[in-house]
Amino acid sequence: MAVFPSVRPRLSRLQFAYERVRRQARTAGLYIELVLDPDAYDPPRHYAFVLDHEVTDEGGTIHVASELNILRPEQVLGILYHELGHVIDLAGLGAEFKRVYSADEEIRADELIRDCFDVEIFYDPDTMIQSIQWRPGFISRPPGLK
Ligand SMILES: [Zn+2]
Repeated sequence: MAVFPSVRPRLSRLQFAYERVRRQARTAGLYIELVLDPDAYDPPRHYAFVLDHEVTDEGGTIHVASELNILRPEQVLGILYHELGHVIDLAGLGAEFKRVYSADEEIRADELIRDCFDVEIFYDPDTMIQSIQWRPGFISRPPGLK
């Protein structure tokens, strides 16, 4: 597994998204690291994941597939923000907002991103891939989506 800066040329679009999400995480007091992991690609809609045991109250690691590069920038950001939502959840930051979040950890990840950063994550109804840019027909994460 390669750490991000070493693969900058091939993953330039990802690098941009990574820097943005990393900076955003810092405003919440979290450190984020991305690692390239071929296992993160599980077609058709999985490109990244977070492992519970790799998250502490300081931050965590997001595993990403190089296949993220085929997606549009707003989709890459949607995916990375969603994973950051899992990190925030596992780091226990949600308690600071004193509100009740969804019992569905996947929906909760998106709710936390909205509360922490005022960023809305939408889903393309055809692919169920995340995006931070709304388009006609895009929806919030439906319950039960894995
Ligand atoms: Zn998720």
